[in-house]
Amino acid sequence: MKEFKVIDRFFAGRGQPRRDVELSVGDDCALVNPAENKSIAITCDTLVENVHFFPDMPAKALGYKAIAVNLSDLASMGAEPAWMTLAITLPEIDETWLDEFSASLSETAEYYGVALVGGDTTRGPKSITITINGQVPKGKALTRCGAKNGDWIYVTGTLGDSALGLDVLRSKQTVADDAATYFIQRHYYPTPRVLAGQALRSLASSAIDLSDGLVSDLGHVLKRSEVGAIVDVTALPLSDAMRTSVDTDTALGYALTGGEDYELLFTVPESQRGALEIALAHAGVSFARIGQISTGNKLRLNKDGEPYNPTNFGFEHFSS
Ligand code: ADP
Ligand code: MG
Repeated sequence: MKEFKVIDRFFAGRGQPRRDVELSVGDDCALVNPAENKSIAITCDTLVENVHFFPDMPAKALGYKAIAVNLSDLASMGAEPAWMTLAITLPEIDETWLDEFSASLSETAEYYGVALVGGDTTRGPKSITITINGQVPKGKALTRCGAKNGDWIYVTGTLGDSALGLDVLRSKQTVADDAATYFIQRHYYPTPRVLAGQALRSLASSAIDLSDGLVSDLGHVLKRSEVGAIVDVTALPLSDAMRTSVDTDTALGYALTGGEDYELLFTVPESQRGALEIALAHAGVSFARIGQISTGNKLRLNKDGEPYNPTNFGFEHFSS
């Protein structure tokens, strides 16, 4: 099958049709018409086989996750997803694989209101690069920079499940079958907190999505905002599956350092706390208050009022 046939059959007209798309797949560029008084938020992520995913990752999961990781970046800035491009490199044209991949990609894009407006199709080791553009009211985007001393720190969802799922796939952890299914599902199908991110606009002082793990990603906020933080590890939200599958220190290790949860971490001044909790409840997402921004530049972990020094994960200091 020739390249243009692949594009026509699997990628043209996919995702959500949008009135603000003037010209889509088929010309040299796509043309889109942004709304007035909005900034365009642009994000791009690449997934490379054997680096970011195993060769046996189902095509359906890959089609979903390639979009979800980008949507999560838009969510963390409070942006509304709109248009995407797909650069796909494949070693061969496997029509069954492409059918499943493109159906999942299209369904996910449609669910989140995203039109697939262009891309590139090449031969080589399997990799997928998606760029999604979103829109956010001018001056309202959430960034990593605004956390202030005294702000409360929140996260959505539960932490560590995706990393445990990865360890199950790598045979580094053994858990009960139904728990294994749950963790792998969280690893393959993370939920981008798109509506929650938009609900945080005008309420949160900073936000980031959790791609590398809580300690690392909170570290980015602390560094960019020039503040420190205290996190109470007993407040970290853990799934029932996590609580019942591994011991507490192991669970906390996953929650603190495990990557790819794609939950949001954000900070909120005391004055907005009530409004924020109502807004998030409306967005239908669970959330937990895990600590507070402090002066200085260090992340301190407490457990039951005592400093918590995790031993089993070997990290030594949390200075940002
Ligand atoms: P060019 O050589 O001018 O870049 P291509 O032959 O690469 O054009 O692409 C033809 C059209 O198909 C373009 O509009 C391009 O954006 C689109 N396209 C190519 N690959 C993909 C893809 N994987 N998904 C969506 N659109 C694609
Ligand atoms: Mg091209």
